[in-house]
Amino acid sequence: MVPTQFASSHRLPPHELAEAPVRYPRPSRLAEPLKVEGQKAQQATTSLGLLSIGDLLEHLPRDRREARTVADLRPGENATVVVEVRSIASRSVRRRGMRPLVEATVADETGPMKVTFFNQPWLVQRYPRGTRLVLHGKFEARNGFRVQGHATTSEPLAGADAVAHYPATEGLSSTQILALVRRHASAVSDVVEPLPSSVRVSERLPDRPAAVSASHFPQAEHDLDGGRRRLAFDELLLAQLALLRRRRTRHENATAPVLDGERELTERWLRDLLPFSLTGDQQRALEAIDRDLASSLPMQRLLMGEVGSGKTVVALYALLRAVEHGFQGALMAPTETLAEQHFATIQSLTGGEVVSAGLLTGSTPVARRRDLLGKLSSGELSLIVGTHALIEEPVSFARLAVAVVDEQHRFGVRQRAALDAKGPPHQTPHILHMTATPIPRTLALAGYGDLDFTLLRELPRGRKPVQTFVCSTERERARAYDRIREELRAGRQAFVVCPLIEESEALQARAATVEAERLRAGELRGFEVALLHGQLAPAAKQGAMAAFAAGAAQVLVATSVIEVGIDVPNATVMLVEDADRYGISQLHQLRGRIGRGAHRSLCLLFGPKDSSRLRALAAHADGFALAEIDLRLRGEGELVGTRQHGLAQFRVAELPRDGELLERARAHAERIVDEDQRLEAPENALLAQALAAAYGAEARAPIRA
Ligand code: ADP
Ligand code: MG
Repeated sequence: MVPTQFASSHRLPPHELAEAPVRYPRPSRLAEPLKVEGQKAQQATTSLGLLSIGDLLEHLPRDRREARTVADLRPGENATVVVEVRSIASRSVRRRGMRPLVEATVADETGPMKVTFFNQPWLVQRYPRGTRLVLHGKFEARNGFRVQGHATTSEPLAGADAVAHYPATEGLSSTQILALVRRHASAVSDVVEPLPSSVRVSERLPDRPAAVSASHFPQAEHDLDGGRRRLAFDELLLAQLALLRRRRTRHENATAPVLDGERELTERWLRDLLPFSLTGDQQRALEAIDRDLASSLPMQRLLMGEVGSGKTVVALYALLRAVEHGFQGALMAPTETLAEQHFATIQSLTGGEVVSAGLLTGSTPVARRRDLLGKLSSGELSLIVGTHALIEEPVSFARLAVAVVDEQHRFGVRQRAALDAKGPPHQTPHILHMTATPIPRTLALAGYGDLDFTLLRELPRGRKPVQTFVCSTERERARAYDRIREELRAGRQAFVVCPLIEESEALQARAATVEAERLRAGELRGFEVALLHGQLAPAAKQGAMAAFAAGAAQVLVATSVIEVGIDVPNATVMLVEDADRYGISQLHQLRGRIGRGAHRSLCLLFGPKDSSRLRALAAHADGFALAEIDLRLRGEGELVGTRQHGLAQFRVAELPRDGELLERARAHAERIVDEDQRLEAPENALLAQALAAAYGAEARAPIRA
């Protein structure tokens, strides 16, 4: 619950209040340069980016460091304590050039101790008897506590587990930062409130000065929560505004061809040429794409579906819609292999007849390339599939209306902009982005909030979800080998995946070799067992894969190298040793190697029954559900691929914890941009300023640079 009486002034530390009875906001105070004692400390403020008082106040504590009690301190340990000064005095040091030490007796409710401050004689005056202090330093039993950082505090004494801990650096400790923040605390009331009051009221958020204050000087737990929530909201709102404005700017600069005509070609294709009927998810994806293409706002849709979910059919539909309007379509993939695969799929799905299509990659021979480029610019060629080669300078399209970008996260902003620029004069193509990596909703919103989303969760007909079991006991292991032998005798094949040994590929290769030997002599005696690991020579690797693919080997003992491309529909069992060493998404990908044929498949995960990850895999076949669980279990930072997806990193907000807050921020951002796209209304003026401060020109610049 957020306290409604939240206001900035009464959150100041008491001694600051006494100094500053009434203050009117003077934003200039935040702009004043931050000055600290000592050259080294001054340099440290620069390296932390704390140039002004405003910077300092926005430098928020990362967490709360648990303070220790005096009685608990162990000799030699570095610790933080919250204490009160009992007595304090300076003691001269006989060595020349040394400033006197300051020695004090301090205490919390568990007892007193001696503390020593070095080189700061003025502390005798600054910290009189009765002053409450946060001290950070080293406890040396006999000599007391050597203070490294200190600040006054209003924290309750002893064991208060709430001492603000700031991102610090050499030359400026967290406690010194705390002291600085306290010195400038009264400037908190100058912190600008960027939110229109309607948003603040409807979200029942404390004002920003109060939230900043609460984050530095919490008086109670709910302060901290309410303050954190408010600061997280600001961050998420600004990020969503930046994303939505980026998308609007694209709309503003160019329109896309309106494709709302008859479905002559696509209808015939769906009815007569496609060898299967669409899944419900594919059908819905087509409908969404139809709506997008029928508008002059360029489509910006992200199609997410795991490998095999049938994205290519959906992409091809969008491309054919362009063709039947007399426009061209292009599909860009990150590698030549993928481009070739797509080209082959498209040829087979269209019978190679319906449209004229070409393949353009880096290794397209010069003559062929010249021919393709000519036909693209004349409009003779309707469809092109290729790599980055498609967006290079000499490529020009007569009438490009739809572009599909596969594995879109592997292309940069500039490459996507280059594709945009391939549209007809003053027009932008519709773009369909695709990814095979399931991204949880919150991360997708945070990272790709400028796109619309479509998910293909349903497996194409004929595919059966893999049954997955966790095996922990010896009996279950014995039973697992029984099942494997049954499958092998029935003519099927099996994978045995060895434990992941991250430290050493050599060790992992050895373990796989030993396991293959063990199985040949033991549980799988009499069956043909092949071995595949990363240390084999390429020829040996290919030999093993070929033997397994041809059915000559019935079992493939392998390390996780089988994650990459092996397609053996006859393989129906997978056994994973020490499965708990693998991540959820890795196991899910491994498991994708089976369940590709007509027969029911079985995945046996050896590992502890209480492993949340293994249990999740046993319970869910859907990669999206698993990605959500993975995110929940591991948190945002740990999620595989988060970085490579270029997702925003937040200072305060945490996903998925703040997922609901993100949805709310998103809704507000959509409404704000709908009503006042350029943020020109007076009530949005400060918001526009905050947006520019956080995202700079990027929030305004058109993507077509
Ligand atoms: P993705 O690109 O998502 O990995 P593809 O589009 O390549 O998946 O489809 C994988 C395979 O499934 C292809 O052989 C494709 O022809 C087939 N397929 C796609 N949609 C269906 C469907 N609705 N019913 C049956 N098979 C389908
Ligand atoms: Mg594909």
